[in-house]
Amino acid sequence: MAATVFVFGSINADTSYRVAALPGAGETVIAASASSSPGGKGANQAIASAAAGAPTRLIGAVGTDVAATSLLEALGSRGVDTAAIAPRTGAPTGSAVVYVDDAGENCIVVLSGANELLDAEVASSGLSSIGAGDVLVLQSEVPAHASRAAAAIARTAGASVIWNAAPAPASRSDLVGDVDLLVVNETELVQIARLLGIRGATDEPETANLAGLLSATAAALEADAICTLGAAGAIYVVAGSSGRVAAPKVRAVDTTAAGDTVVGYLAAHAQLPIVERLRLATSAGALTVTRAGASSSIPQLTDVEPMLVDLTERTPA
Ligand code: ADP
Repeated sequence: MAATVFVFGSINADTSYRVAALPGAGETVIAASASSSPGGKGANQAIASAAAGAPTRLIGAVGTDVAATSLLEALGSRGVDTAAIAPRTGAPTGSAVVYVDDAGENCIVVLSGANELLDAEVASSGLSSIGAGDVLVLQSEVPAHASRAAAAIARTAGASVIWNAAPAPASRSDLVGDVDLLVVNETELVQIARLLGIRGATDEPETANLAGLLSATAAALEADAICTLGAAGAIYVVAGSSGRVAAPKVRAVDTTAAGDTVVGYLAAHAQLPIVERLRLATSAGALTVTRAGASSSIPQLTDVEPMLVDLTERTPA
Protein backbone atom coordinates (compact mmCIF):
# COMPACT_ATOMS: atom_id res chain seq x y z
CA MET A 1 0.00 0.00 0.00
CA ALA A 2 1.28 3.49 -0.81
CA ALA A 3 2.01 5.51 2.36
CA THR A 4 -0.42 8.25 1.30
CA VAL A 5 -2.02 8.98 -2.08
CA PHE A 6 -2.39 12.69 -2.88
CA VAL A 7 -4.79 13.39 -5.74
CA PHE A 8 -4.53 16.87 -7.29
CA GLY A 9 -7.42 17.46 -9.65
CA SER A 10 -10.99 18.24 -10.58
CA ILE A 11 -14.04 18.01 -8.33
CA ASN A 12 -17.56 18.22 -9.78
CA ALA A 13 -21.12 17.81 -8.62
CA ASP A 14 -22.40 15.16 -11.08
CA THR A 15 -25.98 14.53 -12.07
CA SER A 16 -26.44 11.32 -14.03
CA TYR A 17 -29.50 10.47 -16.15
CA ARG A 18 -30.35 6.96 -17.34
CA VAL A 19 -31.83 7.04 -20.88
CA ALA A 20 -32.82 4.36 -23.39
CA ALA A 21 -30.70 6.01 -26.11
CA LEU A 22 -28.40 9.06 -26.04
CA PRO A 23 -30.14 12.19 -27.43
CA GLY A 24 -29.04 13.50 -30.81
CA ALA A 25 -28.89 17.19 -31.78
CA GLY A 26 -32.30 18.86 -31.34
CA GLU A 27 -33.77 15.76 -29.70
CA THR A 28 -35.50 15.53 -26.29
CA VAL A 29 -35.51 12.20 -24.48
CA ILE A 30 -37.18 11.18 -21.21
CA ALA A 31 -34.86 9.78 -18.52
CA ALA A 32 -35.78 6.60 -16.63
CA SER A 33 -33.99 7.81 -13.48
CA ALA A 34 -31.49 10.38 -12.16
CA SER A 35 -28.91 10.45 -9.37
CA SER A 36 -26.35 12.88 -7.93
CA SER A 37 -22.84 12.07 -6.71
CA PRO A 38 -19.31 13.50 -6.51
CA GLY A 39 -17.57 13.48 -9.89
CA GLY A 40 -14.63 14.90 -11.79
CA LYS A 41 -11.61 12.74 -12.47
CA GLY A 42 -9.80 14.03 -9.38
CA ALA A 43 -12.66 13.20 -7.02
CA ASN A 44 -13.37 9.83 -8.68
CA GLN A 45 -9.71 8.77 -8.50
CA ALA A 46 -9.48 9.85 -4.84
CA ILE A 47 -12.61 7.80 -4.06
CA ALA A 48 -11.09 4.82 -5.89
CA SER A 49 -7.78 5.13 -4.06
CA ALA A 50 -9.54 5.27 -0.67
CA ALA A 51 -11.78 2.33 -1.68
CA ALA A 52 -8.63 0.42 -2.61
CA GLY A 53 -7.41 0.90 0.95
CA ALA A 54 -4.92 3.79 0.85
CA PRO A 55 -5.01 6.90 3.05
CA THR A 56 -6.04 9.47 0.43
CA ARG A 57 -6.00 13.28 0.39
CA LEU A 58 -7.78 15.18 -2.39
CA ILE A 59 -6.39 18.62 -3.31
CA GLY A 60 -8.66 20.78 -5.43
CA ALA A 61 -10.95 23.80 -5.56
CA VAL A 62 -14.70 24.24 -5.12
CA GLY A 63 -16.97 27.29 -5.00
CA THR A 64 -18.56 28.69 -1.85
CA ASP A 65 -22.03 27.41 -2.86
CA VAL A 66 -24.37 24.74 -1.49
CA ALA A 67 -23.04 22.20 -3.99
CA ALA A 68 -19.59 22.46 -2.34
CA THR A 69 -20.91 21.61 1.12
CA SER A 70 -22.66 18.44 0.03
CA LEU A 71 -19.69 17.41 -2.15
CA LEU A 72 -17.25 17.65 0.77
CA GLU A 73 -19.63 15.62 2.95
CA ALA A 74 -20.03 12.94 0.28
CA LEU A 75 -16.26 12.72 -0.30
CA GLY A 76 -15.63 12.46 3.46
CA SER A 77 -18.17 9.63 3.72
CA ARG A 78 -16.17 7.72 1.05
CA GLY A 79 -13.02 7.96 3.21
CA VAL A 80 -11.33 10.85 1.37
CA ASP A 81 -9.42 13.51 3.37
CA THR A 82 -10.93 16.82 2.16
CA ALA A 83 -8.91 19.24 4.35
CA ALA A 84 -6.84 20.46 1.36
CA ILE A 85 -9.82 21.35 -0.84
CA ALA A 86 -9.77 25.13 -1.22
CA PRO A 87 -13.02 27.16 -1.28
CA ARG A 88 -12.79 29.80 -4.03
CA THR A 89 -15.08 32.82 -4.43
CA GLY A 90 -15.82 34.05 -7.95
CA ALA A 91 -16.61 30.70 -9.57
CA PRO A 92 -19.24 28.03 -9.00
CA THR A 93 -18.35 24.51 -7.91
CA GLY A 94 -17.58 22.45 -11.02
CA SER A 95 -20.48 20.37 -12.30
CA ALA A 96 -21.27 17.73 -14.89
CA VAL A 97 -24.36 16.28 -16.54
CA VAL A 98 -23.99 12.62 -17.56
CA TYR A 99 -26.31 10.63 -19.84
CA VAL A 100 -25.96 6.84 -19.84
CA ASP A 101 -27.83 4.67 -22.33
CA ASP A 102 -29.03 1.06 -22.13
CA ALA A 103 -25.87 -0.15 -23.89
CA GLY A 104 -23.69 1.41 -21.15
CA GLU A 105 -22.34 4.20 -23.39
CA ASN A 106 -22.21 7.69 -21.95
CA CYS A 107 -22.02 11.31 -23.01
CA ILE A 108 -20.98 14.08 -20.61
CA VAL A 109 -21.13 17.91 -20.43
CA VAL A 110 -18.82 19.58 -17.88
CA LEU A 111 -18.74 23.09 -16.39
CA SER A 112 -15.18 23.50 -15.01
CA GLY A 113 -16.05 26.36 -12.61
CA ALA A 114 -13.70 26.53 -9.60
CA ASN A 115 -11.50 23.76 -11.05
CA GLU A 116 -10.09 26.40 -13.41
CA LEU A 117 -8.85 28.38 -10.38
CA LEU A 118 -6.49 25.64 -9.16
CA ASP A 119 -2.96 27.03 -8.98
CA ALA A 120 0.55 26.44 -7.64
CA GLU A 121 -0.37 27.96 -4.28
CA VAL A 122 -3.15 25.40 -3.63
CA ALA A 123 -0.72 22.66 -4.79
CA SER A 124 1.98 23.82 -2.46
CA SER A 125 -0.20 24.04 0.67
CA GLY A 126 -2.01 20.75 -0.09
CA LEU A 127 1.27 18.91 -0.66
CA SER A 128 3.13 20.34 2.36
CA SER A 129 3.25 16.90 4.02
CA ILE A 130 4.08 14.74 0.93
CA GLY A 131 7.22 12.62 1.31
CA ALA A 132 9.19 9.62 0.03
CA GLY A 133 6.97 6.59 -0.69
CA ASP A 134 3.88 8.72 -1.22
CA VAL A 135 2.13 8.96 -4.60
CA LEU A 136 0.77 12.04 -6.39
CA VAL A 137 -1.99 11.50 -8.98
CA LEU A 138 -2.71 14.09 -11.70
CA GLN A 139 -5.19 14.27 -14.59
CA SER A 140 -5.86 16.89 -17.30
CA GLU A 141 -9.08 18.55 -16.11
CA VAL A 142 -7.33 21.39 -14.22
CA PRO A 143 -4.80 23.96 -15.55
CA ALA A 144 -1.62 22.20 -16.73
CA HIS A 145 0.63 24.81 -15.07
CA ALA A 146 -0.90 23.90 -11.68
CA SER A 147 -0.38 20.16 -12.32
CA ARG A 148 3.23 20.81 -13.36
CA ALA A 149 3.83 22.74 -10.12
CA ALA A 150 2.33 19.86 -8.12
CA ALA A 151 4.50 17.30 -9.95
CA ALA A 152 7.67 19.29 -9.27
CA ILE A 153 6.85 19.54 -5.52
CA ALA A 154 6.13 15.79 -5.31
CA ARG A 155 9.33 14.84 -7.14
CA THR A 156 11.45 17.11 -4.94
CA ALA A 157 9.91 15.45 -1.87
CA GLY A 158 10.80 11.96 -3.21
CA ALA A 159 7.21 10.93 -4.03
CA SER A 160 6.25 9.30 -7.33
CA VAL A 161 3.92 10.93 -9.86
CA ILE A 162 1.13 9.25 -11.86
CA TRP A 163 -0.34 11.30 -14.71
CA ASN A 164 -3.66 10.17 -16.15
CA ALA A 165 -3.63 12.25 -19.35
CA ALA A 166 -7.41 12.51 -19.58
CA PRO A 167 -9.08 14.14 -21.34
CA ALA A 168 -6.42 13.93 -24.06
CA PRO A 169 -4.18 17.03 -24.06
CA ALA A 170 -4.88 19.31 -27.04
CA SER A 171 -1.38 20.78 -27.40
CA ARG A 172 2.19 20.30 -26.21
CA SER A 173 1.64 23.06 -23.62
CA ASP A 174 -0.85 20.72 -21.89
CA LEU A 175 1.80 18.04 -21.26
CA VAL A 176 2.89 17.48 -17.64
CA GLY A 177 6.61 16.90 -17.02
CA ASP A 178 8.20 15.09 -14.03
CA VAL A 179 6.03 12.00 -14.47
CA ASP A 180 6.88 8.46 -13.28
CA LEU A 181 3.85 6.66 -14.73
CA LEU A 182 1.56 7.76 -17.58
CA VAL A 183 -1.93 6.17 -17.68
CA VAL A 184 -4.07 6.63 -20.83
CA ASN A 185 -6.83 4.96 -22.81
CA GLU A 186 -6.44 4.18 -26.54
CA THR A 187 -7.65 7.57 -27.80
CA GLU A 188 -5.47 9.48 -25.33
CA LEU A 189 -2.44 7.36 -26.24
CA VAL A 190 -2.75 8.13 -29.95
CA GLN A 191 -3.24 11.84 -29.22
CA ILE A 192 -0.22 12.12 -26.86
CA ALA A 193 1.96 10.14 -29.27
CA ARG A 194 0.88 12.53 -32.02
CA LEU A 195 1.80 15.57 -29.88
CA LEU A 196 5.19 14.00 -29.21
CA GLY A 197 5.75 13.49 -32.95
CA ILE A 198 5.90 9.68 -32.69
CA ARG A 199 5.68 7.80 -36.01
CA GLY A 200 2.47 5.77 -36.52
CA ALA A 201 0.45 8.09 -34.28
CA THR A 202 -1.58 9.39 -37.18
CA ASP A 203 -3.66 6.20 -37.29
CA GLU A 204 -7.06 5.82 -35.62
CA PRO A 205 -6.80 3.85 -32.31
CA GLU A 206 -8.48 0.84 -33.99
CA THR A 207 -5.69 0.46 -36.54
CA ALA A 208 -2.70 1.85 -34.62
CA ASN A 209 0.06 -0.35 -33.21
CA LEU A 210 -0.83 0.54 -29.62
CA ALA A 211 1.97 -1.48 -28.00
CA GLY A 212 4.51 0.23 -30.27
CA LEU A 213 3.07 3.68 -29.57
CA LEU A 214 3.05 3.00 -25.81
CA SER A 215 6.73 2.02 -25.84
CA ALA A 216 7.73 5.06 -27.87
CA THR A 217 5.64 7.38 -25.69
CA ALA A 218 7.15 5.93 -22.49
CA ALA A 219 10.63 6.47 -23.93
CA ALA A 220 9.87 10.05 -25.00
CA LEU A 221 8.50 10.96 -21.54
CA GLU A 222 11.21 8.95 -19.74
CA ALA A 223 8.39 7.33 -17.75
CA ASP A 224 6.58 4.02 -17.33
CA ALA A 225 3.27 3.85 -19.22
CA ILE A 226 -0.04 1.96 -19.14
CA CYS A 227 -2.79 2.02 -21.76
CA THR A 228 -6.23 0.68 -20.81
CA LEU A 229 -8.10 -1.21 -23.55
CA GLY A 230 -11.69 -1.44 -22.24
CA ALA A 231 -12.89 -5.06 -22.15
CA ALA A 232 -9.43 -6.21 -23.31
CA GLY A 233 -7.75 -4.99 -20.09
CA ALA A 234 -4.51 -3.01 -20.37
CA ILE A 235 -1.01 -3.03 -21.83
CA TYR A 236 2.04 -1.76 -19.97
CA VAL A 237 5.64 -0.68 -20.39
CA VAL A 238 7.10 -0.61 -16.89
CA ALA A 239 10.76 -0.70 -15.82
CA GLY A 240 11.75 -1.88 -19.30
CA SER A 241 9.34 -4.83 -19.44
CA SER A 242 6.08 -4.87 -21.38
CA GLY A 243 2.97 -7.02 -21.68
CA ARG A 244 -0.80 -7.21 -21.37
CA VAL A 245 -3.10 -7.95 -18.44
CA ALA A 246 -6.67 -9.00 -19.26
CA ALA A 247 -9.81 -7.75 -17.53
CA PRO A 248 -12.35 -10.28 -16.19
CA LYS A 249 -15.27 -10.90 -18.55
CA VAL A 250 -18.32 -9.02 -17.30
CA ARG A 251 -21.60 -7.65 -18.59
CA ALA A 252 -21.08 -3.89 -19.07
CA VAL A 253 -23.93 -1.76 -17.73
CA ASP A 254 -22.22 1.65 -17.46
CA THR A 255 -18.58 2.40 -18.30
CA THR A 256 -18.48 5.78 -16.47
CA ALA A 257 -15.56 5.99 -13.99
CA ALA A 258 -13.93 2.71 -15.14
CA GLY A 259 -10.69 4.49 -16.11
CA ASP A 260 -10.73 6.50 -12.87
CA THR A 261 -11.12 3.30 -10.86
CA VAL A 262 -8.07 1.81 -12.58
CA VAL A 263 -5.97 4.91 -11.82
CA GLY A 264 -7.04 5.01 -8.14
CA TYR A 265 -6.25 1.31 -7.65
CA LEU A 266 -2.88 1.68 -9.41
CA ALA A 267 -1.99 4.57 -7.08
CA ALA A 268 -3.13 2.82 -3.90
CA HIS A 269 -1.12 -0.32 -4.74
CA ALA A 270 1.98 1.34 -6.18
CA GLN A 271 4.26 -1.01 -4.21
CA LEU A 272 3.00 -4.20 -5.97
CA PRO A 273 4.81 -5.81 -8.93
CA ILE A 274 3.26 -4.47 -12.15
CA VAL A 275 1.30 -7.56 -13.24
CA GLU A 276 -0.26 -8.07 -9.82
CA ARG A 277 -0.96 -4.33 -9.55
CA LEU A 278 -2.64 -4.21 -12.97
CA ARG A 279 -4.63 -7.39 -12.33
CA LEU A 280 -6.13 -5.72 -9.26
CA ALA A 281 -6.76 -2.46 -11.16
CA THR A 282 -8.35 -4.05 -14.27
CA SER A 283 -10.55 -6.25 -12.05
CA ALA A 284 -11.69 -3.15 -10.14
CA GLY A 285 -12.36 -1.42 -13.48
CA ALA A 286 -14.38 -4.40 -14.70
CA LEU A 287 -16.47 -4.44 -11.51
CA THR A 288 -17.16 -0.70 -11.98
CA VAL A 289 -18.69 -1.27 -15.43
CA THR A 290 -21.14 -3.83 -14.03
CA ARG A 291 -22.73 -1.11 -11.88
CA ALA A 292 -24.76 1.91 -12.94
CA GLY A 293 -23.50 5.34 -11.83
CA ALA A 294 -20.19 7.20 -11.74
CA SER A 295 -18.34 7.48 -8.41
CA SER A 296 -21.13 5.47 -6.75
CA SER A 297 -20.05 2.46 -8.85
CA ILE A 298 -16.40 2.45 -7.68
CA PRO A 299 -15.88 -0.82 -5.77
CA GLN A 300 -14.24 -1.50 -2.39
CA LEU A 301 -11.13 -3.71 -2.32
CA THR A 302 -13.06 -6.46 -0.50
CA ASP A 303 -15.44 -6.72 -3.50
CA VAL A 304 -12.57 -6.81 -6.03
CA GLU A 305 -10.38 -9.43 -4.35
CA PRO A 306 -12.71 -12.40 -5.09
CA MET A 307 -12.47 -11.54 -8.82
CA LEU A 308 -8.72 -12.06 -8.92
CA VAL A 309 -8.26 -15.06 -11.13
CA ASP A 310 -5.23 -15.51 -13.31
CA LEU A 311 -5.67 -12.65 -15.74
CA THR A 312 -2.07 -12.42 -16.80
CA GLU A 313 -1.38 -12.94 -20.44
CA ARG A 314 2.15 -11.88 -21.32
CA THR A 315 2.65 -10.79 -24.89
CA PRO A 316 5.76 -9.30 -26.41
CA ALA A 317 5.40 -5.57 -27.09
P1 ADP B 1 -11.78 4.74 -20.14
O1 ADP B 1 -13.09 4.54 -19.45
O2 ADP B 1 -10.88 5.69 -19.43
O3 ADP B 1 -11.88 5.00 -21.63
P2 ADP B 1 -11.31 1.92 -20.63
O4 ADP B 1 -12.55 1.89 -21.46
O5 ADP B 1 -10.05 1.45 -21.26
O6 ADP B 1 -11.02 3.36 -19.99
O7 ADP B 1 -11.63 1.05 -19.33
C1 ADP B 1 -10.78 1.07 -18.19
C2 ADP B 1 -10.75 -0.30 -17.55
O8 ADP B 1 -12.09 -0.66 -17.13
C3 ADP B 1 -10.26 -1.42 -18.44
O9 ADP B 1 -8.85 -1.51 -18.38
C4 ADP B 1 -10.96 -2.63 -17.80
O10 ADP B 1 -10.28 -3.04 -16.64
C5 ADP B 1 -12.30 -2.06 -17.36
N1 ADP B 1 -13.33 -2.22 -18.40
C6 ADP B 1 -13.84 -1.28 -19.22
N2 ADP B 1 -14.80 -1.80 -20.04
C7 ADP B 1 -14.88 -3.11 -19.72
C8 ADP B 1 -15.68 -4.23 -20.17
N3 ADP B 1 -16.60 -4.08 -21.14
N4 ADP B 1 -15.46 -5.45 -19.62
C9 ADP B 1 -14.55 -5.62 -18.64
N5 ADP B 1 -13.78 -4.62 -18.15
C10 ADP B 1 -13.93 -3.39 -18.67
